Amino acid sequence: MILTKEQLRENLDRLIWDIEEARVQRSEHLIVQLVVVAKYTEIENIKTLYSLGQRNFGENQVQQLSSRVGELEDLPLAWHMIGSLQKNKINKIIDLNPVLVQSIDSLELAMEINKRLAVKEQQLSGLLQINSSYEESKSGVSPEAAKDIYQQIQESCPNISLKGVMTIGAHSKDEKEIKKSFETTYKIYDSLQKSGATICSMGMSGDFKYAIQEGSNMIRVGSRLFS
Ligand SMILES: *Cc1c(COP(=O)(O)O)cnc(C)c1O
Repeated sequence: MILTKEQLRENLDRLIWDIEEARVQRSEHLIVQLVVVAKYTEIENIKTLYSLGQRNFGENQVQQLSSRVGELEDLPLAWHMIGSLQKNKINKIIDLNPVLVQSIDSLELAMEINKRLAVKEQQLSGLLQINSSYEESKSGVSPEAAKDIYQQIQESCPNISLKGVMTIGAHSKDEKEIKKSFETTYKIYDSLQKSGATICSMGMSGDFKYAIQEGSNMIRVGSRLFS
């Protein structure tokens, strides 16, 4: 559905106010970055959100990311890869040169990305994805292993610059469980700050308020903006 500029402005304004409310509950010093998840929406809506000041956009499929980077190459957008990465798509994602690959979900994947980056003499920024809710359907390293794996990637993957962590909140109606998954992730992020972590990416349309209350400084919001 293509929305008018007025509709998108209204949705964005409401979102920004809700972010603001959660942000000051946590800390007036917290800065929360918004990544607009474009996977459901038309290219026209992306252009409109750009005209409303948005610069960071996320896609969860390499193919879709590729076509949008191409179609929107005239706009100075920052693209985030937020979905699972198959090995056979690594070269493609490197060539697309996203500002951040948020979905590095194993040491093995990191090593493979690093290998291809080295061949191309390129660098890439990424986040380690954590499966903070222990759900089988979700990717990511276990919270227990996260710190070790983060440091292993830093040691063995010189072409990857790790910037922090990403998680998807628990799939639950229970507020406590959702918050617990964010709290778990924030603790890991907090302990990795001395290793240079600056980004804690958590929170989507339905749960970003909880995520920000637990310390998220990057949220990824899609559906709420486009309905
Ligand atoms: C789709 C998606 C989002 C956005 O979800 P909404 O609920 O539409 O806001 C955020 N993060 C990831 C990893 C996604 O795949």
